[in-house]
Amino acid sequence: MSDVELRFLGTGDAFGSGGRLHSCTFIRSAEGDALVDCGPSVLAALRRESLDPNAVDAILVTHLHGDHFGGVPFLLMDAHYAAGRTRPLVIAGPAGVANAVARALDVLFPGSGGLMPRFPVTYVEWRDREAVGAGPVRVTPFQVRHSTHTPCYGLRVESAGRVLAFSGDTEWTDALIELSSGADLFVCECSGYESAPPHHLDFLTLERHRSALTCRRLLLTHMGEAMLARAEALGLDAASDGLVLTI
Ligand SMILES: [Zn+2]
Repeated sequence: MSDVELRFLGTGDAFGSGGRLHSCTFIRSAEGDALVDCGPSVLAALRRESLDPNAVDAILVTHLHGDHFGGVPFLLMDAHYAAGRTRPLVIAGPAGVANAVARALDVLFPGSGGLMPRFPVTYVEWRDREAVGAGPVRVTPFQVRHSTHTPCYGLRVESAGRVLAFSGDTEWTDALIELSSGADLFVCECSGYESAPPHHLDFLTLERHRSALTCRRLLLTHMGEAMLARAEALGLDAASDGLVLTI
């Protein structure tokens, strides 16, 4: 087994709390590079870390909210018009992800909805608890509880023999126990401290269920202002923009 490197490019919530960038985690192993979620700030975030957007083999989208997938059109436009990408790209997400990307492209860059990239793009759709290959990684999606308008998933990502679990956005659901079972790392959203916006997790709820989680390490992310202040005061294990971990 070789090491897997994670770079937390964006650890903020939808509202830019703490000045943090939107959700995006870069995973690199000997097998390739992948992004878990792709918020609108993805290109700036990659370039800040001197990472080449063309090196990304797969984009794994937990759900079709703008702060998690809104960067896909920017990455595609850059790859097609500016970066001369030739490397294949896998875009994996909830059912309808290809259509959602086309619609987002057309809204953000009118007329580009039918963009035919000069490089191969393969779309993969999540099915609850069905493991699937997505470029360099293998992913088992677990449906979580976040929106009644679009299916939302936590992702259990296997890369180079390591297991990395990502909650995506969700309120508490027992699916998180299975999602993160025995994982080397569980990156879990924690929008609030004692309460959170609807369909999100707060820290006290997560603490109540902590003993049921068997992950080796639990790392908090997607924190709102109240949670950011508490996380620092309490010295909680939390992600921040630019954090690099080797697993
Ligand atoms: Zn969301």
